[in-house]
Amino acid sequence: MVAASVSRATSGCTTQQVDVALVGAGFAGLYLLHRLRKDGFTTVALEEADDVGGTWYWNRYPGARCDIQTIDYCYTFDPELESAWNWSEKYATQPEILRYLGFVADRYDLRRDIRFCTKVKAATWDQASERWLITTDNDAAVSCRYYIMATGCLSSPKPPEIDGVKDFEGEVYYTGRWPHEEVKFAGKRVAVIGTGSSGIQAIPLIAEQAAQLTVLQRTPNFALPAHNGPAPADRVALLEGDRAGYREQARWSGAGVPLQLTTVFSWQLSAAERLERFENAWAAGDLVCMLRQLWADQGVDVDGNALVVELFRDKIRATVRDPEIAASLIPYDHPFGAKRPCLDTNYYATFNRPNVTLVNLRQEPIKSIVASGIETDKRTLEVDIIVFATGFDAMTGAIMAVHPIKGRDGKSLSDVWANGPQSYLGLTVAGFPNLFMITGPGSPSVLSNMVVSIEQHVDWAVNLLIAMREAGFTTFEATKTAQHGWTRHMADCSTLTLHRLANTWYTGANVPGKAQGVMPYTGGVGPYRGICDEVVSRGMLGFRLTGPNVAEQCNDGEIVRLQPDVRLVLKKLEEMKLAPVESLGAQGARDFVAELNADRPAGRPVGDVADGTLPGTDGPLPYRLYRPATPGPHPIVVYFHGGGWVLGDQQSDDPYCRDMCRRSGMIFVSIGYRHAPEHRFPTAAEDGYAATRWIAEHAAELGGLPGSVLVAGWSAGGNIAAVTCQLARDRGGPHIAGQLLVCPVTDCTFDRSSYNGYATGYFLTRSLMYWFWDLYCSPADRTDPRVSPLRGKLGGLPPAFVVTCEFDPLRDEGIAYGDALAAAGVPVEQLKARGHIHTSFTMVDVVITGVSGRVQMAEALRRLAGLPPEGKQVDGSVRPARTAPLKIAAAAD
Ligand code: FAD
Ligand code: NAP
Repeated sequence: MVAASVSRATSGCTTQQVDVALVGAGFAGLYLLHRLRKDGFTTVALEEADDVGGTWYWNRYPGARCDIQTIDYCYTFDPELESAWNWSEKYATQPEILRYLGFVADRYDLRRDIRFCTKVKAATWDQASERWLITTDNDAAVSCRYYIMATGCLSSPKPPEIDGVKDFEGEVYYTGRWPHEEVKFAGKRVAVIGTGSSGIQAIPLIAEQAAQLTVLQRTPNFALPAHNGPAPADRVALLEGDRAGYREQARWSGAGVPLQLTTVFSWQLSAAERLERFENAWAAGDLVCMLRQLWADQGVDVDGNALVVELFRDKIRATVRDPEIAASLIPYDHPFGAKRPCLDTNYYATFNRPNVTLVNLRQEPIKSIVASGIETDKRTLEVDIIVFATGFDAMTGAIMAVHPIKGRDGKSLSDVWANGPQSYLGLTVAGFPNLFMITGPGSPSVLSNMVVSIEQHVDWAVNLLIAMREAGFTTFEATKTAQHGWTRHMADCSTLTLHRLANTWYTGANVPGKAQGVMPYTGGVGPYRGICDEVVSRGMLGFRLTGPNVAEQCNDGEIVRLQPDVRLVLKKLEEMKLAPVESLGAQGARDFVAELNADRPAGRPVGDVADGTLPGTDGPLPYRLYRPATPGPHPIVVYFHGGGWVLGDQQSDDPYCRDMCRRSGMIFVSIGYRHAPEHRFPTAAEDGYAATRWIAEHAAELGGLPGSVLVAGWSAGGNIAAVTCQLARDRGGPHIAGQLLVCPVTDCTFDRSSYNGYATGYFLTRSLMYWFWDLYCSPADRTDPRVSPLRGKLGGLPPAFVVTCEFDPLRDEGIAYGDALAAAGVPVEQLKARGHIHTSFTMVDVVITGVSGRVQMAEALRRLAGLPPEGKQVDGSVRPARTAPLKIAAAAD
């Protein structure tokens, strides 16, 4: 590493030479500077402001506080620092947080390496010297090996986008650039434009001082009371009881705060129980509690979320006396949590004050600012002061404001990001060597307690620089493959939550003309940390490392190819270190499955669930019938559960049957066919056929539409469904209108590539499949179409919808069956589910990313049954949607 020095550049200006130049002196920049210096890198920090603090330097408006409890919203890298500082309140004020950051800067003697009042204007990578040249607005450039942008996610205030601001003769203030001097509101007519977190914090305090306050609201937001005061005793006790453990739990949590996620679903709670949970969260005055501890489906399912929204609306109605004003303050256009909710002190009650007026800009938009105030399309609001609480060009604003950032081959970052930010891990960008972004787009950042995310990024980045130095590498760069994979993973993650359903600064929708997509990583802080660690443990996967005296290293690839929730399920299973199912014996395996099923989330309610028996070939077979809540008669789907012809019963795919019954609006009858090894081939197949025939004959008695049935099955159940179709064709009925085969077993050949590629590690293993085959069917019988339907005659079979999963040993035989059906002239649709495993679709409410697949399956069943698509009635009229339609912002790619 070169020593810090100053040299003369060709322009005649002095150029400072350092190992690392970093931009920003907020939480991120300060910790970075400390770590880099401690680890022996020569470093300079460049900061536009004249002091440290970042967010807490600029946002000095009345009421500015943190909205994550201060015992969590602080550095944790040094236990001595923690004991040296005591927070006075549950949510510290801006001045206190600023004092804290000043204290940190002094404690580690950071100011001597910060160049204040220095705005970085541009950055250019020089390939020959493998260094960045950073230019600033005060003539002193910096040449560095590594360039780190700690420029903040919410540091670039958005222009107001309203004409005429310059014509206004009164005072103008921006919450994100608040003056250091006191602003005097007393006796003044004040207007606040904007009701995000900043506006909602400032409005009650301005209302207390101003003669008249007019709040101009475009979109109402959710706000819950902070109930500020001393830090809650229970949280303090937890922290003090085991400080290291508490901090570690935060690092591996969903949002960077050590709170447990609830696992209870809304439909498992009565209305009174839901209200109680809501009231507790309301009383706790904690955003994270309200966002994560009500019920498990609140953040992932529109219906579960709507229950929270309704309770919020009741609170607003109960607080605001004028019903018309209350109605205007009620959020209507986004799920709770999809936009950042606010934490307030007396916000809604402020609208009961006689000196406060609410202007609903949806009803009277602003035309322009004029000399005397604000002109809407109905009137002129005469004011003395206008406060713009209009937010930020978030996540990318401060990065793109450094323009150009020229990387390899002179490519500019603003061109590369023209359609939205692309990154690897939200830390680096392909084509921009030796550049880090702290909490960049593509990382959890603003969806977390940001200090936790900042510390994680700083530690990861500095540790990489140390490791490179030790190995002799001088450059790192993300590969395009890795970045592409991350973009896709981001998009997959964004389907997990409801963030994509709101137009917010998270998606870029608040800035006119900005490319849209969910910018922060929605997969959670802990999982993200695990992924970053895995990049390292897999040899810096997705990075190219070079150095003057070492061979180039590039372990190219995508870090996450599984769907995010599938990945978590597999990790959990790995941690459980379970014995292979096949080692348990048939009864042991059945007990194990029963135990697993007892722990899974309860299935959703349907109209009716009834158990019964039907006559099989050798005696009665049990079944379970799921009837939709809608008026019948409904088409009937005869369903065969999975379990390798050995495990499971008519109830074992209960959540899947309920979900499909609800989504398709059809009766599902799940059959308890007999199992191996007690009943070997062809018992299961013959039971399946017999049950289907009986149900078709008794459809009307079961409340179904007579005439024909459909069949469906998963795994070995898919095998039985496929075989049943062949038997029905060959034995003169019943008429089967369609077959839904989910990850079906179709053939006895094990040499297909998915069998080998995904033999272990993806839940269903090759050795388990061998065991199932051995218990069910002797080798001599295996080519019989009643167990290997791929080997049967395929012409004349019912239309099919075949679902296969990418990481499933059975994938290729499922695809082969779909292809063979199509070749035989059978109408076939195939769903090849990317990133999924054998159990993805039956792990309802655990694998959330399976929803879209099940929606497609339900739509396919409706098509096969000749029903109109969901939402349309048989007579062509449109059934009212369960929830109001929402405008959907595009996902990251
Ligand atoms: P910042 O604090 O934004 O610092 C970035 C610094 O970079 C700034 O000082 C800026 O001047 C400087 N800079 C940017 N560009 C340049 C350039 N070109 N040249 C020179 N200098 C430059 N998060 C939470 O987790 N919890 C909270 O309670 C919370 N409350 C918030 C309240 C407000 C009012 C706001 C606006 C944000 C809040 N946030 C909160 C998010 C907050 O931004 C982060 O928590 C954290 O402070 C970010 O630290 P940072 O160092 O990454 O960025
Ligand atoms: P914001 O959430 O983006 O809110 C901006 C507000 O201004 C919105 O109500 C927006 O309306 C309105 N607005 C923007 N442009 C407008 C225009 N041209 N005309 C009329 N109205 C306009 O910004 P913010 O309040 O500064 O908060 C940003 C983020 O910073 C927060 O979400 C939070 O993460 C952080 N923050 C935290 C705290 C805290 O409590 N600790 C405090 C402040 C900020 P639309 O919704 O219609 O666009």
